Formats: sequence, structure tokens, C-alpha cells
Amino acid sequence: MAKVLCVLYDDPVDGQPKSYARDTIPTIDHYPGGQTTPTPSAVDFTPGELLGSVSGELGLRPFLESQGHTLVVTSDKDGENSVFDRELVDADVVISQPFWPAYLTAERIARAEKLKLALTAGIGSDHVDLDAAIARGVTVAEVTYCNSISVAEHAVMMTLSLVRNYLPSYQRVLDGGWNIADCVARSYDLEGMRVGTVGAGRIGQAILRRLAPFDVGLHYTDRHRLPAETERELGLTWHESPAAMVPHCDVVTVNAPLHPETEGLFDDELIARMKRGTYLINTARAKIADRDAVVRALRSGQLAGYAGDVWYPQPAPPDHPWRTMPHHGMTPHISGSSLSAQARYAAGTREILEHWFAGQPLREEYLIVDKGALAGAGAHAYSVKKN
Ligand code: NDP
Repeated sequence: MAKVLCVLYDDPVDGQPKSYARDTIPTIDHYPGGQTTPTPSAVDFTPGELLGSVSGELGLRPFLESQGHTLVVTSDKDGENSVFDRELVDADVVISQPFWPAYLTAERIARAEKLKLALTAGIGSDHVDLDAAIARGVTVAEVTYCNSISVAEHAVMMTLSLVRNYLPSYQRVLDGGWNIADCVARSYDLEGMRVGTVGAGRIGQAILRRLAPFDVGLHYTDRHRLPAETERELGLTWHESPAAMVPHCDVVTVNAPLHPETEGLFDDELIARMKRGTYLINTARAKIADRDAVVRALRSGQLAGYAGDVWYPQPAPPDHPWRTMPHHGMTPHISGSSLSAQARYAAGTREILEHWFAGQPLREEYLIVDKGALAGAGAHAYSVKKN
């Protein structure tokens, strides 16, 4: 029987909600492109309830315990004396969410001698040292597509919010003020601007599709070019690299995974290639942007705004400079953890565990690393360090 170690974010300050803002969430049975939403044999939770925090347990306990497995759930993940570190030693499966990542470093993987499966309840497995997982034969899987649309909606919201100067104007209302000139002195229309995405996979394309009706110019760069039909349908302009694309854009959105090719991509040099006053939206991973270069660019006016929900490390310390830099619209890492998304990634986690414990293959699209190599979705979107 297996020991499953699950790292989730803390419960709400006042405990699990006793009621919710809405009674139901829409039923979605497939994603754009046709992939079905998760298909576990059953779920032991009510979709729309809070599942991603410690008490929510991703709704896994009845299922796992009925099969004789042990489930340990904790939010205490950092530092050598953390519950995560102590429990990891004999864990067979680790489940973690990118919002509250249990960093599975090479050292930790070396200590977790029984570890066979690192499961991301969400998308983005960069918190796992993929090279170490490959070397040790640990399978890495994630719930591909579960929250791609959730993130795309968040990125569109942040784009409009920055361009229209929403948050400072809202703050003025909270402060009892009414100075319209102060609100509109940084407010523009998105219409007519050029928006470019680094990465046109599930999230990148969903953002492009959602922004198309705003009558903007749509640009993208990706390692693989989209079908000509899609380019025509959306009126997309392809660029061979981020450096080639950014000078043409008023808004740049980052939608590629964090891996050796993208780490530190938005540094002083790339940001200097942007038009003065570009907005940068990064809901992918914080380390794709150089933390201090972003602060410098906002202070100098090279960037008109920066927004996203991804930080390094997570949780971000109270003195993280992105909390206080000018013209930002940061949230904690929430875009992919709406109640709607939680229902999907909890179900997807259960689907993966059901297959894993039954010795059945996992869906190809869920695989990042398997049998000592990048696999499935991971083979397409990730890279490993070159020796
Ligand atoms: P996809 O795999 O569908 O798309 C990623 C795209 O990025 C692929 O088209 C890939 O190219 C492209 N890409 C990879 N490397 C590069 C590169 N060096 N330059 C340009 N493009 C590149 O993933 P999703 O769209 O579903 O998710 C993207 C990322 O968003 C995740 O990896 C994760 O880090 C982040 N994310 C954030 C969430 C949040 O809550 N904030 C939630 C979910 C995801 P190709 O495949 O053509 O090689």
C-alpha cells in the first residue's frame, strides 16, 4: 500500500467556507480541441467547493483510504524541519500544486528513496527538478488543460486592468476620492494595440482568441508555428523569437513553461527592445522574468505596467519588491485555482491516481516525465539542461 503525501495551501483564515457565492458551477465535459475533462470513476466532493486547501484534501481521502493507502496532507513545505521534508522520506507519491509548490529539488528527490510519482494538481511541473526525476526514474504528471482557460481569463482581465488603469481608479473609490483626472491620466483603450504572446499553446491561444474581438493586432512567437488556418482565422503574425516580436507589441503576455530556454528571458536586454510603455503580463512563471529588471523598467517607465500571479519563491516574502513596485497589478498565485478549476484538477488528480494504482498507463497528455525521459505533453513543451 502506498503513502501519498499531498502539499496544499492553507485553509481560509476563518476556516473552510460554510456557504459559497454560487450554488453550482457550469458542467464542462471537454476542452477546446476536443480533449475530455478528467474522467475518474467517481469523485467524493461537490464541484464548486474549496478543494485546494488543506481541509479540502482535493477530495481524495475516502478514495485513497478505501484502497488501503495512507494520505498525509500538509501546507508546511519549506525548510528542513517542515512536515513535507519529514514525511517525504518514505512517500511513494507526492502531490503538489503550483500555487503552493512543494519544491522537489534534486536533494529532496535523492532523499525520497521510495518516490515513484510526482503529481502536479494543476499545470506546470517546474517545481520538480525534472533532470533529477529523469535520472531517478520518477514519473512526473500534471492535469493538462485543467486550468488553462482559467489562466487565460485572468491574463485578459489583467491586460484590461493595466491598460485602463482599473486598480488605481478602484483604490480611489475605496479612499473616498473622485479625482477623475488622476484616474484617467494613465488610462488607454486596448482597441488598436498590438498584443503578443510568448508561447501559443493552450493558454496562449486561448488569450489570443479572447482578445481577438477587441480589434487588436495579434502576434505570437513559439517553437512550433501554428497551422496556417489558425493564423488566418485569428489574423496572427508569427515571429521567430521573443526578441523579434516584442518591438512590435504594446502588450506582451508570457505563456510558455519555465525551463532552461525560458528562464530569465525577460531581462534588461529584452525589456530594452520593447516600445517604451509596453505592458507585460506574466501568468506563466516568475523566473521567466528577471525580478529586478522588471522593477527597474517600471521605475524608468520602460514598462507602463506589469501584472501576473506568479512569484519566486512562493509564498512571496513580505519584502518581495514586486509587492511595492509602481504600476503593478499582481495577485497571489490564484489564476489557475478558481473553484471551477479546482473541481477539474481534483478530478484529474483522482483519475491519475486511479490509473497509477491499477497499473494502467496514464493519459499521454498528462505525462511530463516517464521511464527516464521527457514524455507526452512534457516532451513537447519542456527542455532539459544541456550537459
Ligand atoms: P502548453 O504546453 O499548452 O503551452 C506552452 C507553449 O509554450 C507551447 O506551445 C510551447 O511550445 C511554448 N514554448 C515552450 N518553450 C518555448 C520557448 N522557449 N519559446 C516560445 N515558446 C515556447 O501549456 P499551457 O498553455 O497550458 O501552460 C503554459 C504555462 O503556463 C505552464 O507551463 C505553466 O507554467 C503556466 N501556468 C500557469 C498557471 C497559473 O495558475 N498561473 C496555471 C497553468 C499553467 P511547443 O509546444 O510548440 O514547443
